[in-house]
Formats: sequence, structure tokens, C-alpha cells
Amino acid sequence: MSLSKQSVQSYYMEFLRCAGCSEVFAYENPLHRPITLPVCGHTMCGGCVYIMRDEKKCPQDEVSFEINDTSINQLPTNYPLLIIRYDPKQLPKDNEERYGDCPSYMKLDDLTRSYFTVTEDFLGEISLFIKPIINDEKRQSIFSRSTTRKIFSLLNNQYINHEGRSKVLEAIRSLGEHICIDCIRHYQKPQQLKDNLEAAIRLPKGHFPEPEKVLKTILLFLKCCHPITSGENLVESMAQIVQRKDPYGILSSVHDIVHLLSITPCCFQMVEQADSSSSIKLKPEFQNYESIRREYDSRIIEMAMSNDFCLSAEQWSYLFYGNMQHEFEMALIYQKLHTPQSFTTAINLFYDMAKHAQGDPQTIEHLRGYFQFLSNIDLEKDASQWYQYTAALGLLKKVLKLLINLHK
Ligand SMILES: [Zn+2]
Ligand SMILES: [Zn+2]
Repeated sequence: MSLSKQSVQSYYMEFLRCAGCSEVFAYENPLHRPITLPVCGHTMCGGCVYIMRDEKKCPQDEVSFEINDTSINQLPTNYPLLIIRYDPKQLPKDNEERYGDCPSYMKLDDLTRSYFTVTEDFLGEISLFIKPIINDEKRQSIFSRSTTRKIFSLLNNQYINHEGRSKVLEAIRSLGEHICIDCIRHYQKPQQLKDNLEAAIRLPKGHFPEPEKVLKTILLFLKCCHPITSGENLVESMAQIVQRKDPYGILSSVHDIVHLLSITPCCFQMVEQADSSSSIKLKPEFQNYESIRREYDSRIIEMAMSNDFCLSAEQWSYLFYGNMQHEFEMALIYQKLHTPQSFTTAINLFYDMAKHAQGDPQTIEHLRGYFQFLSNIDLEKDASQWYQYTAALGLLKKVLKLLINLHK
């Protein structure tokens, strides 16, 4: 079943299953308790971890654990993840009860143990915050799917050492960016999205192309034998055919789309024909609709992002396809195009958008300041500076709370 067809409830249940055997995590049976692997962040049930206790690499992705001589079945249970399923009252409360028989926890020095505890408390609070929202049909859209995925990647961390804390900070920064995009979404007027995108990719108003018909026509056209000698020739020849009737009203888009696909790295190439003339064809990797469409979507998003335009993956899916079914593909494109500058771009856009929409000035200023702090996290350094580390945890909680409050 595609993700978009599932309710959020069954959607997030997928995050509460063992990455090895798909068993749903449970507290009652120690073999079903979640343990998160260091480095890669896959979370597995106690049973699977026991079976692979002598391994040095995660069986899911071959990533090495690198946790100085600690066997993975000595790692602590991931209680924050269990809080998504259980009332905290049903779980052991203090660390002694939780980790008294956990060798890797007992070995920790005082400072590392304090870092561990502060991180665990923070993640437990995050679980408590999001629980009522992802379980409530009316409120679950406060978080985009990308944000929900980022929340769970934050909850799937093994922070027993310095490297693990860097990973927590990385997850916090990335989640902060997605919360910022969700705040932009809150202030954006849906009816203006298309206009704003057209402005961002420098198209005249009302010119947002209907890519499906044009791309399918290009594919069909280039499969015919007429030799096409250049991009202009392709546009002209298509125009001649399309102009006769232009049944789909696509003429105005042909030029824009051929141009977009010709930008380096070009999607077309010259191919020698049987009669030794040359003709333009699509490169082999773009010869079906799905692949050329993915490339087209990616180029539009890239162009929009380079002009400081920022949308959630759901919004891209709606704009391009009129539904949410392509959300995950859009999220992958965003991830691929993501740069260290992307968070700052999102913050600036949020600030403009929120002010323009006349949101509460104090909230806007606070959010901007918190987002700026989160975007400047130094993963390596801040993981071992108590003040910076705990400040990042605290501010993430604040932006999450403020996003939730925007919807009240
Ligand atoms: Zn398992
Ligand atoms: Zn893994």
C-alpha cells in the first residue's frame, strides 16, 4: 500500500516496528523492547539484537557500529520510542530501574551519564508532545509527512557517546528546518502557491506548464524517425504538429519544457541513425515517462529553490500532480538538492511570509531567532559543550510547541 493511502496512525506505526523482523515494539517482553544501533540509527527488537550480538555491522545497511568493545546487546532500551505507545506511568521511571542491568549505561562516567539522561528526557518529552497530534485526525496535518519522518529519525538515535550526540544534533537541525517549512506552509495562502512558483521560476502568470501532456508528446515525437537536428528544430517541429490542432493547449509549454530539459546536464543527445544522419533523442536513462518526469520535477524544484522558494514535499506533490501520492518522491528530490544554505533560505522565507500575513510579531521574532540558532549548530563542537547542547534540545522543543500553537 502506498504511504499516502494509509492513515497517519498506521503510517507512524511503521516506525514502531523492528527493522529486522517487523515485530511491533513492546515493553512487556524484553525480547520486543527497542534497541537503537549506533551510527546508522536502525532500531531493532531485543530478540534480533541478541541474535546479531557478535556482529560488527548493521545487517540492514552494512554500516559498522564502532562502539569500543561494547556488544550491541548491552546497549540501553530506547524508552522515548516506547512512550509513543505507552503511558510513561507504565514504564520504569528512574534510570536505576531502567538501566540497572544495562552494562553500557553502568560503565558511563558521570558527565556522559548526564548527557545521556538529558537527551533521554528531551526525547521522551518530544514523544509526549507529538503523541496526541499524530493520533488525532483533525490535527495530524500540523506536521508534514517529512516532519513526521524527521521526528522519528530523531527518536531513533543511540546517544551513549559523543558521536551519538552529534547525530542527535544533526537530527535536531534537520527537524528544525522541516518545522520551519511547516511554519511557512501555515502562512502561505494555498491559492497563491502557483502564482508564487511561477514568479520564482520566472514564468509569466498563468504559464505553469502541464508537463504530462508535453513530456508524453516529446517522448512519442522522438520515437518517430524524423531526424531532429537541434533543440530549436525539436520545438519547431513539435509546434508544427501541435499547432494544427493543439488539442491540449500545450504549445506555449513546449518551448519552456524543452529548454528546461536542455540545461546542462542535457537530457537529450545526438544519435546517429541507420541512414547515417544524426537526430536528437532522449538519453537512455530518460526514455520512459516516469524517468523524464522525475527529472523535470527535480529541475523545477531546483530552479525554485535557487530562487529562494521553499515548499513542503506534500505541497510539491499537490502542485505537480493534484494529490499527495508523490510526496515521498518529492521529499527525496528535496533531500538531493538540499545544501547547507537551505535552512537559512527557509528562515528568510518564513520571516517574509509570516510578516506579510501579519502573524503575531512576537511569535515570529522568537521563531526566527530559534531557527537561526538551530541552523547554526556545529555538530562536532556542540556535542561536547553542555550549554550549547542543552540549548539546542530546549530550542527544538520551543519551535515544536510554537508550531503546534500556531494551529490553535
Ligand atoms: Zn526484531
Ligand atoms: Zn542500520
